[in-house]
Amino acid sequence: MIRFINPSLCLTVLTTLVATCSQAADPDWVDTAVVAVNQEVIDLRHTIHQHPELGNMEFKTAELVAERLRAWNIEVRTQVGKTGVVGVLKGGQPGPVVALRADMDALPVMEMTGLPFSSKATGIRLGKSVPVMHACGHDTHTAMLLGAAKVLAEHRDQIRGTVVFLFQPAEEGAADVDEFQTDTLIGAQAMIRDGALDSPKAEAIFGVHVMAGYPTGHLYYKSGTVLNSSDSFRITVKGQQTHGSAPWSGVDPIVASQGIIGGLQTLVSRRIDLTQGMGVISIGTLNAGSAANIIPETVEMTGTIRTNNADIRETILKKMPPLVSGIASAYETDAKLLLVNKAPVTTNDPTLTESMVPALELAAPGKVARLDSSLSPSEDFSYYAQKIPGLFVFLGATPADQDMRKVPNNHSPYFTADDATLATGVKAHVQFVVNYPGRRQPG
Ligand SMILES: [Zn+2]
Ligand SMILES: [Zn+2]
Repeated sequence: MIRFINPSLCLTVLTTLVATCSQAADPDWVDTAVVAVNQEVIDLRHTIHQHPELGNMEFKTAELVAERLRAWNIEVRTQVGKTGVVGVLKGGQPGPVVALRADMDALPVMEMTGLPFSSKATGIRLGKSVPVMHACGHDTHTAMLLGAAKVLAEHRDQIRGTVVFLFQPAEEGAADVDEFQTDTLIGAQAMIRDGALDSPKAEAIFGVHVMAGYPTGHLYYKSGTVLNSSDSFRITVKGQQTHGSAPWSGVDPIVASQGIIGGLQTLVSRRIDLTQGMGVISIGTLNAGSAANIIPETVEMTGTIRTNNADIRETILKKMPPLVSGIASAYETDAKLLLVNKAPVTTNDPTLTESMVPALELAAPGKVARLDSSLSPSEDFSYYAQKIPGLFVFLGATPADQDMRKVPNNHSPYFTADDATLATGVKAHVQFVVNYPGRRQPG
């Protein structure tokens, strides 16, 4: 669900002051093993990119993932959270259980990159045929985590504890579930429901997301809040249809809707403690009417709520229903509000984050930066990080010689991720494992 706006506007990057890695262990096999697996990771990435699948439809991708994991003697469970795959690698020595997560789903986007491994795929989304593209880089996530799985499997004797590989579906939404269908769990929530974190019981989780507009091979992290929450809503305002020349003979739901839209904006500006963070309520669709001279029966609008603070989110979600119904009734209309929770605020555990900075520095020496503010997209990684301490980091995916301010963002039909950045992502996953507290190994 990563949708980056112009990154230079949404954050400033401070260079991290990680001068030494004296606490971290860097077994000499990591770099060599990552180099050895690099071409295979690139090939996997191209294959997955060329055959993208929508959320909950990742059948072939899941098959490829499971087949590779089995080939490396990693225990595999399939159909977790519908099309998800869980791999379990037991190390040669006792120790903690940590999880590494990648998402496998693509987006309903027509690829325009012109890359030799471009997608020409189509898929069915809610009964309609749509083009499909890995426009958020989840192809790179799947390939990088597979690369890390291979490297770790080849060195299992030297791993303390257990590694759980989570390949999840439907991070961006599911092709077979309407976004306002509230009784079906998808993505991370479905993985958690199906025990992805339970057997074996993971005590921490890590994730990496590629982002355009940041240089290849660079890693970015932040302690605490790192991504916004996301909640959707649909409001149906019902009046009474009548002639446009005589509004008093019916009830106008359009005028009531403008009252509701204005009220929602004042909910943020007047009722939220804005010293604690930010919040926005945006209406994305507004549909009503059939002719200029008819006051319609109903208005339907949909929108999204984003915040970077759990309390602000809770306040908005609590105050919105009475506000909407109160304004609707003041205009003598009825309003039905459907709220759908997409993702909580993504929060990186501060202790885990700080303890893993040396591991990041080993993965990308001299190319690690701390973000000084959270980013506006949202991620269902947040559900895992609500259950156990989590760390979600970003990996630059644009060649350094390009103008970072002009490259197409994630979700653009022109979005590309540089193959040269994959090795850093693989290495980050491996370093998360070997440098997890309590597991550090002799160098
Ligand atoms: Zn996305
Ligand atoms: Zn994404």
